[in-house]
Amino acid sequence: MKRLALDHTARMHVTNAIYSRITGRMTMDRYDFRLGTLDTGPLGTIPTPPLLRVGLECHDPVVAAGDEVLTGTRIASSTRAGTGDLHSGVSGTVEAVTDTFIEIRTTGTKTVERESVPSDSPELLKWLARMGMNTASIRTAPLLIVNAVPPEPGHGIFAPLMNDHRKAVELGLETIKNIVQPSRTVLAAAKGTKVVAFADCSVTFVPARHPYGMAPMVIRAVTGEEPVNGTPPTSACIVTLEDLYIAGRIVESGRPYTNVICQLGQRAAMVPLGTTAATLLAETGTTASQGDRIVFGGLMTGSTACNLEQGTDKRTNAVHVVPEGLFMHSGDSACVGCGECARRCPSRVRPDLLSKASEFKLFERCEGYNIFSCMECGICGYFCPTRRPILQYIRLAKQEITLLKGACEIEEAPAS
Ligand code: SF4
Ligand code: SF4
Repeated sequence: MKRLALDHTARMHVTNAIYSRITGRMTMDRYDFRLGTLDTGPLGTIPTPPLLRVGLECHDPVVAAGDEVLTGTRIASSTRAGTGDLHSGVSGTVEAVTDTFIEIRTTGTKTVERESVPSDSPELLKWLARMGMNTASIRTAPLLIVNAVPPEPGHGIFAPLMNDHRKAVELGLETIKNIVQPSRTVLAAAKGTKVVAFADCSVTFVPARHPYGMAPMVIRAVTGEEPVNGTPPTSACIVTLEDLYIAGRIVESGRPYTNVICQLGQRAAMVPLGTTAATLLAETGTTASQGDRIVFGGLMTGSTACNLEQGTDKRTNAVHVVPEGLFMHSGDSACVGCGECARRCPSRVRPDLLSKASEFKLFERCEGYNIFSCMECGICGYFCPTRRPILQYIRLAKQEITLLKGACEIEEAPAS
């Protein structure tokens, strides 16, 4: 049987020392991943990037090289229900369209016309997805949970949203309530954080430790029920504070949302979707040397950028540069069966079995091991003594299973 060789981008593990060196004020102790209250200050912006590279994941391009686009022009349609279409974050010329990305060179400053907001709830949900919002988790439910718990240590973008962009967040909440039609709304926050709840909304505090900010943990804390194999209970719909902000911004402007909110070192900024790692490094005055890792997302759950031209995607909530020597190399080392990962896993799955099945391309077997119960917290890989890239193997298997099932194809409505 052939083992899969993971490329270098999939091999990163972090240590407590790395966290404190990179994030400065983060408090993360060994065996106790505390969610800090990082102060990122007000949400900023960056100068318009000269070039965007927008990655395609379950999206079909609707533009071709040479096309002129405005800020907000739709450039790719989603082929997976609820993942949201992709729009240009700048006004310019499409330079390249490949199987994996669309590249746009900035040449102007024009923006698309405003659209009117649908009043009908099902139409409103579809419209939000067309305008770029990920709506996969939104459906009618008696309970609406607003997750304001940082997804992992060192994440600090929720505070500026709550404090400085309250109007957009409250408009987003009103919009999402119109769709979900809840009889009860709960704001989930980390213990020790100061929150001002919304009207008609109670607050539940969860432990300020990773992985308690991840959606399945928040659902369990609020409802006492657990998602089954990745499917949340029908009694609850969960959205993040950032989802509310995005919905609010779309409704307020009548235009697509084309940014991602990204933590850049100690500050948070709105950056156009597809802004390259090179642009972000230049913006923060950071340099990366040969052998350094540029991590898109948090250090526990993010992934290493393939190169400096890689653009931010909708999940990029942070960008870190990890200098060579500060990360422990991991590789395709064999599992020694110590059971440490299984003991630590908050989803109570078997990361050892999942990673081994994925490593040998036995993806269907992963389904029998309840792979979709894995919430991708990264804890198993952190504790693995042989430094196996467990989370990367699990993500690979999930992606392969999804593709095998054709879940990236939205079924066409039958012709009437
Ligand atoms: S990433 Fe690892 S520890 Fe976390 S839920 Fe998945 S299998 Fe469990
Ligand atoms: S922690 Fe690593 S070595 Fe130990 S059982 Fe899990 S995968 Fe195997």
